Amino acid sequence: MCVFCKIISGDIPAHKVYEDENFLAFLDIKPINPGHTLIIPKNHYANLSEIPENELSNMILIVKKVAVLLTKKLNFTDYTISENNGPLAGQSVAHFHFHIIPRFENDILTDWDHKERRVGEKEYKPGEAEEIIKKILA
Ligand code: 5GP
Ligand code: ZN
Repeated sequence: MCVFCKIISGDIPAHKVYEDENFLAFLDIKPINPGHTLIIPKNHYANLSEIPENELSNMILIVKKVAVLLTKKLNFTDYTISENNGPLAGQSVAHFHFHIIPRFENDILTDWDHKERRVGEKEYKPGEAEEIIKKILA
């Protein structure tokens, strides 16, 4: 059983933020910022590719509900939603989950944001984007 399935079954304790028949939200054990929350489906799916569409659509509404709840109760305005697929993307628990990460000025993700912006300034070489589009649309 994976670590998040153990949280669902109660074998591992967690600080629960929200729970219904199909989904559970709880505090991340190593928060990027206080209030960092994970949302998981109670059914085990490894990643975004595996979760069925109907469950995902229900889940994203819970993500919104929990995010808004956190902003009000913990009194912050900005947050990052993230979701990693596979180890190269930084996924360490292979049970599909969204992160809701409250954001504050100069927090530890700020460097990452700036790095992303620098990466975003890179341009495609001539013809490179067309090659990629050709593969995607083929
Ligand atoms: P990932 O790296 O897969 O996107 O995110 C997994 C997250 O799960 C990490 O941020 C990690 O801190 C959190 N995590 C791992 N094990 C536990 C646990 O036993 N309890 C809780 N609450 N969070 C966990
Ligand atoms: Zn699981």
